[in-house]
Amino acid sequence: MLHDMMEVIQQGEDNGNHMIVHLRLPSGLEILGLATKNFYGGDWDLGPTWNYLVLADRPFLVDTGRTGQGNTLLEKLKTAGVSGKDLAFVVLTHGHEDHDGGLSEIVQATGVRVKAHTLYDRLIRCYPDDAPLGVNKDFPASCWRCSMPASFSNEHCRAYHRERGRLEIETIGDGETSIMNAVGSYHLPGHSPDALAFLVGEEVLLVGDTLLPDISPHPTRLCYFDQVAHVFGPQYPHGDSIYGLRAYIRSIKKLERIGAHMDRLIVLPAHRLFYNHRWNEMVLNKRVRDLLGHHVARCARILESLKQGPKTARELAAACFDAPLLKGTGIVMAENEILSHCELLQTSGDVVSSNGGRFEAAGTSTFESAIEALEPEW
Ligand SMILES: [Zn+2]
Ligand SMILES: [Zn+2]
Repeated sequence: MLHDMMEVIQQGEDNGNHMIVHLRLPSGLEILGLATKNFYGGDWDLGPTWNYLVLADRPFLVDTGRTGQGNTLLEKLKTAGVSGKDLAFVVLTHGHEDHDGGLSEIVQATGVRVKAHTLYDRLIRCYPDDAPLGVNKDFPASCWRCSMPASFSNEHCRAYHRERGRLEIETIGDGETSIMNAVGSYHLPGHSPDALAFLVGEEVLLVGDTLLPDISPHPTRLCYFDQVAHVFGPQYPHGDSIYGLRAYIRSIKKLERIGAHMDRLIVLPAHRLFYNHRWNEMVLNKRVRDLLGHHVARCARILESLKQGPKTARELAAACFDAPLLKGTGIVMAENEILSHCELLQTSGDVVSSNGGRFEAAGTSTFESAIEALEPEW
């Protein structure tokens, strides 16, 4: 279905890098998919970032690739005869660097308006007098929990933090809102607290990293909320609504509901639309069900492993992930994934934390019904 509507304008590389595709939908709506090079590689590779130019009443751009890709993206827009100055706005699916890294360049070159979720506007700022103890108070709140060494952030992040922190953001609120005629925005936190999806007509759903083909999007951890709660303010009293696996699961169930009566809906992800020589088409409800199944299976695996005796997150990661995924910074990714699931298992009462940072099976197995019972909050 997707394939029939698509014309490859620029072939790019086998993993999709530099690819440009043109989609023409039955209503006449046109969208350009523009893949920009990503940073990751190896076994945790996401593939390039897929940014989208939506040729609606006025054209707008969804996401901007990583740092250094902004001007490349502006060049690619010319393929569709669009100058950066023609854009009604740039809108962000969420504030990860592979999506907003190119933003400052684009704003500097064009003066374009920027829309993003309210929490994005809070996270990109620095709060030197208000930063919690033990974090780098010169970093924006989004990066307080960064675990990369200073040598890395000095080289890669300083300019990004500084330029991004100066941007003026037109904020998008919670729940469902409209960002343009026939374009709806949905706040779907979990992969990131500021994550948004966009529905164009009833034809296209741009899901950012909240749903990806092939790979399971990384959930945040609930405990991240504690560090930034004072920055978010009283409007966000409950971390569980915006951080952690439970928030993520509610969000993908919400996505499923949004598309429930739209049987021809095209779902466009921010990674892996094309990867390893092939197209990855997602059927919304099937992909949501697959991901729910993945998280149930992961929880089951963790609980099974804990029945043999208490374990640390690192030991659980070794039990649950293939060895190549644990190499280098992979171990941090794997541990975070495990900890996110352990938080859910603690909430369901199946796991308790014991001494020395270990987790222990509580003797129950209620997580599956707890996941099933999670309902979107709106
Ligand atoms: Zn992301
Ligand atoms: Zn991403």
